[in-house]
Amino acid sequence: MKRSRGFNTEAVHAGESSNRFADAVTVPVFQTSNFLMNDEKYSSPDNVNNVYTRLGNPTIGALVEKLNALCNASFGVFFSSGMGAISAVLGSFLKKEDSILFCRPIYGGTSALLDEFRHAGIRMDSFTPSSIDRITSLIDHTTRIIYTETLTNPSSQLVDIEKIATIAESHNILLVVDNTFLSPYNFTALDHGAHIEVHSLSKYINGHSDVVAGYACTNDQAVYERVRSMMTMIGSNGNPADAFLVMRGAKTLGLRMQAHNTNGEVIARFLSSSPVIKCVQHPSLVKDLPACYRNCPGYGGMIYLEFFREEDAMKFIRSAKLLTEATSLGGVESLVTMPSLTSHSSSARDDLTEAGISSSGVRLSLGVEDSEDLLKSISEVLSVL
Ligand SMILES: *Cc1c(COP(=O)(O)O)cnc(C)c1O
Repeated sequence: MKRSRGFNTEAVHAGESSNRFADAVTVPVFQTSNFLMNDEKYSSPDNVNNVYTRLGNPTIGALVEKLNALCNASFGVFFSSGMGAISAVLGSFLKKEDSILFCRPIYGGTSALLDEFRHAGIRMDSFTPSSIDRITSLIDHTTRIIYTETLTNPSSQLVDIEKIATIAESHNILLVVDNTFLSPYNFTALDHGAHIEVHSLSKYINGHSDVVAGYACTNDQAVYERVRSMMTMIGSNGNPADAFLVMRGAKTLGLRMQAHNTNGEVIARFLSSSPVIKCVQHPSLVKDLPACYRNCPGYGGMIYLEFFREEDAMKFIRSAKLLTEATSLGGVESLVTMPSLTSHSSSARDDLTEAGISSSGVRLSLGVEDSEDLLKSISEVLSVL
């Protein structure tokens, strides 16, 4: 189902009526205990997944229904973290001697996880947003998964997933897409050929930097059953209290993303005119966008920039009043980090350079503050560099 306009308004309400205890204001947390599973009452279709919270829970079920509506997905699984989702998805489909192709740069945690899979005998190769044409030559009979982010962390480059989906489809390979940076408000990956879409809910979807949680969705029932079963086996289930908070955060996803989109565009344009900054990356500055991203309402608040001098990068992140130096992203407050020291510090320097990340690179996660206030705060710092 393709949406004609950007946002699925019904998703704001989805899920809540399915919770027996929901009212208009709150969704109480309902933690089930161990029931006797051979009792007819608890093996009824309504209750069978809720007998024990690692398997399911009404509050989690209500959240998954809402997230599925946001992502145009038929099936979804809630996880303890974005990494919990990614490891369960990869673990569900990769066996010894299989191989995976992934797009670089990639979130540092995912990169570290891939290293573990490599040690366990999974083969891998990579491509970059500008070398998608290489993919076909990298595929062989062992290739099981192509893995990419829609907008890369930290370099904010769009990856043409429609083009990759065509290749994946013709070789019968699973396409897994991490859409955390764009959020389902701006883009829905399943509508453009991804088989599985994953999100760190800790970022835009919850939006308040007070929860760590994850989610994976699909329109393929067999894929769903496998991922859900992996989640229950490795125990990377999210908990109902976090599901409740994500549910509350997600109610304002649309409003928040409009502010993030505006700030991303306004600040990217402003930064790209500074003489101390070597380059600025944000999709709003790209002239020739891949076709699948042309109708996005915006591209969020994640900007990657590189200073000419490393000491300017350091001064910038330590001095801008409205930018808090902190890891994480996608919350209402603006944050700034140096990826080479934080989220991507586990990656080797050569790998970073090859992926276009430099030691004078800075990642901005713009919040929902007034654009004028952000402009003022940033221009004050730039003027003394
Ligand atoms: C943060 C992040 C993750 C990991 O999510 P957690 O909830 O921190 O485990 C995965 N992918 C991307 C793109 C992220 O930014």
